[in-house]
Amino acid sequence: GLQIGIVGLPNVGKSTLFNALTKNDVLAANYPFATIEPNVGVVGVPDPRLGTLAEIFHSERVLPATVDFLDIAGIVKGASEGQGLGNKFLANIREADAICQVIRVFTDPDVVFADDKDAPDPKSDIETINTELILADLQTIEKVLPRLQKESRMKKDLQEKVAAVEQAQKLLETGTTVFAAGLDPAPLHDLHLLTAKPFIYVFNLDSDELANEPLKQDLRSLIAPAEAIFLDAKIESELIELPEDEALELLQSIGQEESGLSQLARVGFDTLGLQTYLTAGPKEARAWTIRKGATAPEAAGVIHTDFQRGFIKAEIVSFDDLVACGSVAEARSKGKARIEGKDYVMADGDVVEFRFNV
Ligand code: GDP
Repeated sequence: GLQIGIVGLPNVGKSTLFNALTKNDVLAANYPFATIEPNVGVVGVPDPRLGTLAEIFHSERVLPATVDFLDIAGIVKGASEGQGLGNKFLANIREADAICQVIRVFTDPDVVFADDKDAPDPKSDIETINTELILADLQTIEKVLPRLQKESRMKKDLQEKVAAVEQAQKLLETGTTVFAAGLDPAPLHDLHLLTAKPFIYVFNLDSDELANEPLKQDLRSLIAPAEAIFLDAKIESELIELPEDEALELLQSIGQEESGLSQLARVGFDTLGLQTYLTAGPKEARAWTIRKGATAPEAAGVIHTDFQRGFIKAEIVSFDDLVACGSVAEARSKGKARIEGKDYVMADGDVVEFRFNV
């Protein structure tokens, strides 16, 4: 599946967060046949609609969509020059589909600050990481650009790509990431530039700052237009050990409605350009992951490749209509069940039953 790589300077709370991600037992509990790599944490994307579907269909269990997080070693200043784990870290991060940077805002004086600082410095940390990623991308470009330019003199269809790479190079030289500049990543795709990946920022705060809106606004302004998640990694690792009701109590005691991990899963899912459609029956109520814009046969293929090959049609009731009608039978009699063909583009909240030939 698609994976989000976790990066950050040393001692920002990456391991604490990642341990919470891997202790999350969504996958172990619900997907017994999936293999879990030790450096991958799987988090369920919270979706209250599944609980409602499970009530309507008397489903035995609920299976949410999931997001994979990949543990990547910390970045230190000079990583692009081979400091720390250097190129090894860069190779790992290249495989990720999006990058989640953890930034220290918590103050604990017992935990040493990166780069000989004596207080949190989110702005400087973000710049340090960006600089390393930008330098790595510039190295990548310097390696391929001369050959591309030469080839494009013969192959005219390469000229657009060369122009895109040259534009990216200019931007990177000014210290801007490809993602922040909003460049079209498509012509740059096979360069696997690190800064072309979508970014998510996790600010690791002291729990008593989680409701500090001015602080959060300041932090957001450092990373716009990327998405920000605010959490306390230590609390997250405690939440994951608690039964649901006690977890909710702990969350409420720090003024939060939802765990940081859940928020992270939801934002991550969105950042990866994914959406879900829903199925439900007596066995399970389930969210299936598709990319935004997927057609009905592509959506069927996520359940089984045979479903895509033998696709005939899909019977679709929107979640809201289903809830209003109370059952699929009632939705049918009220004309709320649509029959869609192979060109139908799936919409969020579609509750689906596929018809297919085997
Ligand atoms: P990493 O180097 O980025 O993986 O950082 P770790 O997760 O190993 O955390 C470094 C230290 O900071 C550990 O002693 C953690 O217990 C502590 N730590 C992590 N997150 C928090 C936090 O949110 N608040 C406080 N007070 N300490 C934290």
